[in-house]
Amino acid sequence: MTCDYLELAAPGIRGLLPYQPGKPVAELQRELGLTDVIKLASNENPLGPSPAVINSLADAIPELARYPDGSAYDLKASLSEFLGVPTNMLTIGNGSNELLELLARVFLRPGLESIVAQHSFVVYPLVTMVQGATLRVIPAKDYGQDLEATLAAISSKTRMVFIANPNNPTGTWLTAGELTEFLDRVPDHVLVVLDEAYCEYVDVADYPDGVTLLARYSNLIVTRTFSKAYGIAALRVGYCVCSPVIADLLNRVRQPFNVNAMSLVAAVAALGDQAHVRAAVCANLEGMILLTNACADLNLDYIPSAGNFLAIDMGQAAEPIYQALLHEGVIVRPVGVYEMPRHLRVTIGLPAENQRFIAALTRIMNAR
Ligand SMILES: *Cc1c(COP(=O)(O)O)cnc(C)c1O
Repeated sequence: MTCDYLELAAPGIRGLLPYQPGKPVAELQRELGLTDVIKLASNENPLGPSPAVINSLADAIPELARYPDGSAYDLKASLSEFLGVPTNMLTIGNGSNELLELLARVFLRPGLESIVAQHSFVVYPLVTMVQGATLRVIPAKDYGQDLEATLAAISSKTRMVFIANPNNPTGTWLTAGELTEFLDRVPDHVLVVLDEAYCEYVDVADYPDGVTLLARYSNLIVTRTFSKAYGIAALRVGYCVCSPVIADLLNRVRQPFNVNAMSLVAAVAALGDQAHVRAAVCANLEGMILLTNACADLNLDYIPSAGNFLAIDMGQAAEPIYQALLHEGVIVRPVGVYEMPRHLRVTIGLPAENQRFIAALTRIMNAR
């Protein structure tokens, strides 16, 4: 006798598609027999982590038999000082991805809705649907979030609005004026999750600091990560800043030891080396100029980006160009699942990596 296990799955799970990560370097090496491969596909920091992080990991090794500090005392103390917020507003997660999941678990359930923008980060629909809650997608305006339409979509069933600032994969951002005008009009029963995964990279006028806004909006929740500008994506650490009441709820549902000991010490060390973050930001701005100039040379449109990546419009189906780049040993990210079938998202890399991507793309476009 067989059983239809798909039918037995919780309602929200059946319709899910698994998250598609950027192709790992080793996978492409295996598939195509290439040795010299570069990956510009997951918005990682091309400089790697701070040397202070490497040293801190060595210190943690003798303690590997012990459970980690489930309260993340040291990391919360460092973040509290760095951000100027009390520790009872902080939650540490296994990547900010876990925090998005915990927020959904606490606040979403069947009968309630979350609102996301078209082309916004796929994890928001994922965590919504796992809860069996309803997803409302607001059509994008110039690839960015249409806040007027978002407000109009809010109902008594709406419990959460996800906003990435800047957004991945588009790189679009909201100004302080746009965001506060929106927050002023959002009813209190709607939680606004402001995902600032790329905030360290932003160098545009009038960019809002979500953490500062928390004093004015008790329904605001800010998430950030050590995976991007801090360069420790492998270690999976993110944090959430929100009202103590919400932080307390997150603390109830998280695993007791949700962040491992190596990651906790590494995050403290990473936070302590702001010079390393500044170096990454500088290199990013230079790489962004190089890449946008190359797009202009190739007559390709792109979406202006405040992050460490650029969504380039290939002017045709992007998938064959993605494949051709793979054969050149260059991994970028197709964004068809984001309803952007003509775009490729390229992470800003080291200068030599950016040059290699541009040279490969130029060869491919010229051959078409
Ligand atoms: C990369 C990314 C994250 C962070 O992921 P982690 O789980 O912290 O590694 C969150 N939001 C967006 C929009 C991202 O692009």
